[in-house]
Amino acid sequence: MDEPPGVGFEETVDRNGAFPRLGDEQRARLHAVGEVRRVESGEVLFREGDPGYDFFLIESGAVTIVQGYGRENRVIAVQGPHRFLGEINLLTGSPPYLSAVVRDPGEVVQVSADRLRALVADNEELSNLILRAYLARREILIDIGAGVKLVGSRYSQCTRRLREFLARNRMPFQWMDLEDDEEADALLQALGISAAETPVVISGEDVLRNPSNAEVARLLGFGSRGDPPPMCDLVIVGAGPAGLAAAVYGASEGLDTQVIDKIAFGGQASTSARIENYLGFPTGISGSELAERATLQARRFGARMVVPGCAVGLAADDGHYTIELSDGQVVNGRTVIVATGAQYRKLDLPELERFEGVGVYYAATQTEAQMCAGDPAVIVGGGNSAGQAAMYLSHHAASCRLMIRGGDLGKSMSRYLIDELENRPEVELMTYTEIVELKGGQSLEAVVVVDNRTGARRELEARALFVFIGADPHTDWLRDHVAMDEHCFLITGRDLQGDQLDAHVDRRPLFLETSRPGIFAVGDVHSGSIKRVASAVGEGSMAVRLVHQRIASR
Ligand SMILES: Cc1cc2nc3c(=O)[nH]c(=O)nc-3n(C[C@H](O)[C@H](O)[C@H](O)COP(=O)(O)OP(=O)(O)OC[C@H]3O[C@@H](n4cnc5c(N)ncnc54)[C@H](O)[C@@H]3O)c2cc1C
Repeated sequence: MDEPPGVGFEETVDRNGAFPRLGDEQRARLHAVGEVRRVESGEVLFREGDPGYDFFLIESGAVTIVQGYGRENRVIAVQGPHRFLGEINLLTGSPPYLSAVVRDPGEVVQVSADRLRALVADNEELSNLILRAYLARREILIDIGAGVKLVGSRYSQCTRRLREFLARNRMPFQWMDLEDDEEADALLQALGISAAETPVVISGEDVLRNPSNAEVARLLGFGSRGDPPPMCDLVIVGAGPAGLAAAVYGASEGLDTQVIDKIAFGGQASTSARIENYLGFPTGISGSELAERATLQARRFGARMVVPGCAVGLAADDGHYTIELSDGQVVNGRTVIVATGAQYRKLDLPELERFEGVGVYYAATQTEAQMCAGDPAVIVGGGNSAGQAAMYLSHHAASCRLMIRGGDLGKSMSRYLIDELENRPEVELMTYTEIVELKGGQSLEAVVVVDNRTGARRELEARALFVFIGADPHTDWLRDHVAMDEHCFLITGRDLQGDQLDAHVDRRPLFLETSRPGIFAVGDVHSGSIKRVASAVGEGSMAVRLVHQRIASR
């Protein structure tokens, strides 16, 4: 018989609470709800791609977590006595993307995923320990590029789309760049796939050739499955902080709640490397962790979370609304919360699109930081997002230039960030500077800048350009249905004027209610919003009380 994977490996060291050992009391709780059984060397406890899996506590022996079991046999971790198996996908009910194979025989306690979820809901200490471990494991898997494989060229738009989709959904994946990874070629040959059929996504035995985002979501099992009910109490469009807050409060207060998002749960906030000004997190929290926690919380209360689901149209119908999605499906809701946020503006430059994703970026997450590691980077913008990006990227890029059109960062950036930037010599501030041209072959190589006081031009080497210059709301799909301000943000409550109120029979919209009764706008999409995570969360939660009020008034 072949040796099980992991022979000769040391047990994986605990990092950031990813692989804790449980104490006697915690194990006793698991014994009370699980089944104790003996396991033999080589036994597979769960396999990547299984529709779901159970929770395992190891009492004795050792288990190897392995990617591509039987083919690649990449050892990801070895877990020994009193540790437990699993990852975030156990809590969300998605398939595992790694396999667990017993290396040393011993005894395990097996607990069904449903029982585990019930147990942790009741036990704060165990719940915190498991959740922290699972979040830390996800972080490690993303860092080491475990999980599904994406094979495609860095110059392909579709590869970029899939990388963004996987990264925004915090799916661990290994990107194999056809341009310089010999193993990528070998893998394609072994699977009989031509370069023209790439990008491909490979998970276990499944291979998707140039899939849509929806196909990848289905394969990896994120987002709720199945059709929505004929009528929901509340449909939330957009799952950034505002939409997620509305989902947590809506579902926890007994509303039948459906959430749709066109890309990923967490919105813009999930692209923030560190949110430092959110109440209750004195040392900051990464946007993705905040999003992950909020999504789990909304699901736990019973909200149905669908991704990708892009709203493209709205129709009003006899006391309810029908939201049309880009794939032709519809979702009906008695009330709607619009939380679609805003999208960052683009620079008006020739050939900008050619460089998008291959040098020009609108977020500064781990993915983009990898793309410009060791290279010169330029950041444009004077707001907090530009400042945070500069701080973060200065740890990865060879040099970091922050450019603003004016002469004073203090007009648009928080003082704490300006102080941090001033203490970071790796970041060079360039005032009165505008980019007028992008240069490069297949990817960005340089930018031409002009001093807007003197007209002097210079060319600067730049492999990455990060643009943070304000935002436009995602409201195209609501045009002609609800009142908007001159920049297309949604007007609500007392800011609505005379003829904008026709749809309101009593002509009194509630706070946060748009010109259509029962449609609310929260977060960045709302006219005059503060554009902060905390205010988006506040509005999302407040809107739920108003939803109850509107339903009761009908
Ligand atoms: C890099 C960066 C750093 C930031 N740092 C901070 C910070 O430190 N502190 C702070 O307070 N704020 C910060 N912000 C601002 C903060 O993230 C936003 O104010 C907040 O995310 C707004 O939340 P929202 O839910 O209103 O919108 P968003 O977060 O923009 O979410 C909107 C969601 O709607 C979805 N959507 C859009 N259109 C559709 C459609 N038609 N159908 C379905 N779904 C749709 C989008 O995919 C998105 O997920 C930062 C922003 C960025 C980009």
